[in-house]
Amino acid sequence: MPFGVEGTRLRFSRWLSLRQMAKAVRKHDNSRAKNMDQELWNVARAVESGATTIRAVVEATALSHLKVERALRSLEKQKWLIRDNAGFRPRQASTRPDRQCGSCNLCCDILEVTAVDKPIHQLCRHWEPGKGCVIYDQRPQMCRSFACAWWQGHFDEDWFPVKAGLVVHFSAGAVNIHVVPSAPDRWREEPWFSTLCGISLKGTRPGLPPYATLVVSGNAKFLLLGRTVVPDPTPFGTSFVPLSPETFHYWKARSEEHARRLNERAAEMQRIQQEFGFCGIPEEDDPHPPYRPALMRVSGLQEREPPSRR
Ligand code: SF4
Ligand code: SF4
Repeated sequence: MPFGVEGTRLRFSRWLSLRQMAKAVRKHDNSRAKNMDQELWNVARAVESGATTIRAVVEATALSHLKVERALRSLEKQKWLIRDNAGFRPRQASTRPDRQCGSCNLCCDILEVTAVDKPIHQLCRHWEPGKGCVIYDQRPQMCRSFACAWWQGHFDEDWFPVKAGLVVHFSAGAVNIHVVPSAPDRWREEPWFSTLCGISLKGTRPGLPPYATLVVSGNAKFLLLGRTVVPDPTPFGTSFVPLSPETFHYWKARSEEHARRLNERAAEMQRIQQEFGFCGIPEEDDPHPPYRPALMRVSGLQEREPPSRR
C-alpha cells in the first residue's frame, strides 16, 4: 500500500473529532456512510490541520473552490465547523477537558512553528519562564489550533509529553511523533513502541483511512510499518507487503514514477498470493512491467493451464 510521507512541518489537527464526525455522518445517513465522502473528509482534515480560509483549504486539498465551499457548508450544517471572524475552525476541542498542559511546554520547544519563525528544537522566543507564552492573546492560528494527542485525550499518563519525551500530533494523512533531543531513542522503548506499532498498523489496514506513522528524532526520520522501522523515508512514498501480522518488507520510491511501478508490482504480488496462496518477495527494487513473470519465477510457481474444452 502506498504512502505519501509528509515532511516535519507542523500541520495541526484533531483526529478523534474527525472520527466522531464520521460516526455522526454514518448514523445520520447510512448509505452515505458506506463510502464517506472523500472530499468532505479531506476538507475536514485540512481545517483540522490549521487551514482557516477557503484559499488555504483549496491549497491543502487541491479541490476546486466550489467543492471546498460545498464541503465547508456541509461541515457547518453538521455542527462540526465554526466560521467566525478568525476563519474556520473545528468545533470539538478535547475529549478530556480535565487535561492541562501544566508543566509541559514541549510543543513551544521542540516542534517547528513556521508562523512565528520558530525552528525545530529551539524554544520559541515568545516563551518566558514563569510567564509562558507572552503573546498568548495574539498567538497565531497555528498555535491556537494545536493540541497534542495526549492533550486531546488519546493516550494515558505515560504519554504526558514531558514525561514521555514525545509529542504526538495528527496531521493530514499522518501521525507524527517528535522526540526530545535528550532521549532520542525513547520512541523505541516500552510502553511507547508497542503502542506506536499498533497505531501504525491501523494506518495500513485495508478499508480504513490510510495514514503514515512518522517519527522525527533529531535530524533522523523514520516511518513505522508495525514493528518494521523504515529509516529516511522518501517524499515519494514507501511500497510494502506484509511478512507477518506486524512486520513488512518495503521498498522506498525514488520518484513518483518509481512509486507507481513499485505499487503496481505490490498489487500483482497480492493477486498471485490470492491465486496461489503464496508469493515470493523479490529483491529487485526497480521493477518494470510485466511484473507477473518475474514474480512467478521468484515464487517457484508455474501458470496454471486453462481448463481444456470437451
Ligand atoms: S505538547 Fe501537549 S501537553 Fe505539552 S504544552 Fe503542547 S499541547 Fe500542552
Ligand atoms: S507563539 Fe506562544 S504558543 Fe506559539 S510557539 Fe511561541 S510560545 Fe508557543
